[in-house]
Amino acid sequence: MRATVMFGAGDVRIENVPDARLIEPTDALITVTRACICGSDLWPYKTMEPSDTVRVMGHEAIGVVEAVGADVRSIKVGDLVIMPFAFSDGTCEFCHEGLQTSCVHGGFFGTVEIAGAQAEAVRIPQADGTLFVLPVGKDDALMPSLLTLSDVMGTGHHAALAARVGPGKTVAVVGDGAVGLCGVIAARRLGAERIIILGRHADRIALAREFGATEVVSERGNEAVERVRELTGGLGVHSVLECVGLEQSVLTSVSIARPGGAVGRVGVPQDETMPASQPAFYNNVTVSGGPAPVRAYIEELLPDILEGRIEPGKVFDRVVHLEEVPDGYRAMNDREALKVMVKP
Ligand SMILES: [Zn+2]
Repeated sequence: MRATVMFGAGDVRIENVPDARLIEPTDALITVTRACICGSDLWPYKTMEPSDTVRVMGHEAIGVVEAVGADVRSIKVGDLVIMPFAFSDGTCEFCHEGLQTSCVHGGFFGTVEIAGAQAEAVRIPQADGTLFVLPVGKDDALMPSLLTLSDVMGTGHHAALAARVGPGKTVAVVGDGAVGLCGVIAARRLGAERIIILGRHADRIALAREFGATEVVSERGNEAVERVRELTGGLGVHSVLECVGLEQSVLTSVSIARPGGAVGRVGVPQDETMPASQPAFYNNVTVSGGPAPVRAYIEELLPDILEGRIEPGKVFDRVVHLEEVPDGYRAMNDREALKVMVKP
């Protein structure tokens, strides 16, 4: 089958790889009908050392179930399913707590061990716990928004929960990528009164406003911190959604939180140590977050998409065929595209 393989920084190719197939009796096999390129795929695209190890990329998808293993109970051949970026058994202690990204039998798609979904087909471990069956057809008009439930919308929602967004709160969203924009949707959905987006790309800011952002801060670093303070009577914001993961963005996030406030981190951290330890301490700022258990959020967010209350699918501004995926990486890396959808 055809699949996207990363061989090193800037070196993404569409290759022939062995067909995805059932291995464990708890597996399902899906034909991918939609996938995407994620902002987090750009980290290896920027930095990966050259390697001959075949790593099939992609951790967001919707697909049709082609086959299931002997122990699969709730997923049937022909189902249209969402594949969250992590697989999980749905039965362990952490899954019951709604933290599927820490499942004791879980893991992540698009790694060296588990092939990803920027491909014609993908093997789904722990199919009963992992997959979510959709109540629509595979070419439904809502497909772009439904696809965001595999990662970016659930991740934005996780950031908002970790940042303790709620009615009447003043919220800041650091980062105007797809996750940040979904964070704006999530913050409004949870009742935030003011939503300040920190970003500087005109088209993304426009989308943020459409999603519910009430104010924009386009400065960076100390100037951004000053600007947010001005907007909040010198106090800072209750909740900060950190959707980038760089040292500077974490530092900014902690610095704009008001005393007793909270920062929800979903940007994959690019440093081993956490910046801004001292301001977080002295201001009693809670710093929380991590890989979003998006599987846990599908049930909650799906009705809002089906009934048209939220439209996170608007983050997709380019659609490519599988063979064009390398150019999709280039376009996202060059900030020519916000988020790329793949139709194999
Ligand atoms: Zn589990």
